[in-house]
Amino acid sequence: MTRSIVDPAAVRLSRVTRAFGSGPAAVKALDDVSHVFPAGSFTAVMGPSGSGKSTLLQCAAGLDRPTSGTVSVGGTPLTGLKEAALTRLRRDRIGFVFQAYHLLPSLTAAQNVALPLRLARRRPSGADVMAALERVGLAERAGHRPSQLSGGQQQRVALARALVTRPDVLFGDEPTGALDSSASRRVLTLLREWVDREGQTVVMVTHDITAASYADHVLFLVDGRITGELSRPTAERVADRMARLEAVPC
Ligand code: ADP
Ligand code: MG
Repeated sequence: MTRSIVDPAAVRLSRVTRAFGSGPAAVKALDDVSHVFPAGSFTAVMGPSGSGKSTLLQCAAGLDRPTSGTVSVGGTPLTGLKEAALTRLRRDRIGFVFQAYHLLPSLTAAQNVALPLRLARRRPSGADVMAALERVGLAERAGHRPSQLSGGQQQRVALARALVTRPDVLFGDEPTGALDSSASRRVLTLLREWVDREGQTVVMVTHDITAASYADHVLFLVDGRITGELSRPTAERVADRMARLEAVPC
């Protein structure tokens, strides 16, 4: 796919609103949000439950369409793309991991990782699949099924699957939410290394102050609006900001 313009932003949101329902019962999950996620940066998105974090990620990743406003990925505006073109862009340029790993239980780790290549009708090369598993430290588990792996290992297989197509942006919706602290640390260290060594762009929703401190920037959402941003966060500064967010009366 050709890029329409050269854009240093991996993802750009311009005045994005996403409303659910209509009339007086309408909920604005996102309310006029504008933000640039720079290429090669790691951003954490934080905010209370229901503040619009998942909706922000879904809109930024082309999994959901804003009610108004525009989203561009690598300079390509998603608005106006037909469903097939949007699917192709998602497949080629975007990786997504969730709190629940969403691996197919009947497939081995290697077969799970090969899946996006199959869906793209690319012949999965054994070498690409093994390289992806090696990047997450699980080459020796290639033949194991998800039930034979720990939660942290399953999430690392999901990361290998998200990255095997070499996406421009990796989105994670609470990717460490179900992991204990040592498995979380391992996943977060991988994300940090990919950003630092390979220029990967990562956007991650998290509730966890320590997880957020791995990022370059932290965005704070309240009621569908960005209410603040912190650069070079430390756990102390994130905790302080979250405490103040939660003190805001509803
Ligand atoms: P978060 O991830 O921060 O918890 P969400 O983005 O999931 O928040 O939700 C933001 C708001 O939008 C909430 O009020 C939620 O109830 C509403 N919402 C999200 N998805 C839907 C949907 N598919 N239908 C109706 N309301 C929704
Ligand atoms: Mg959510």
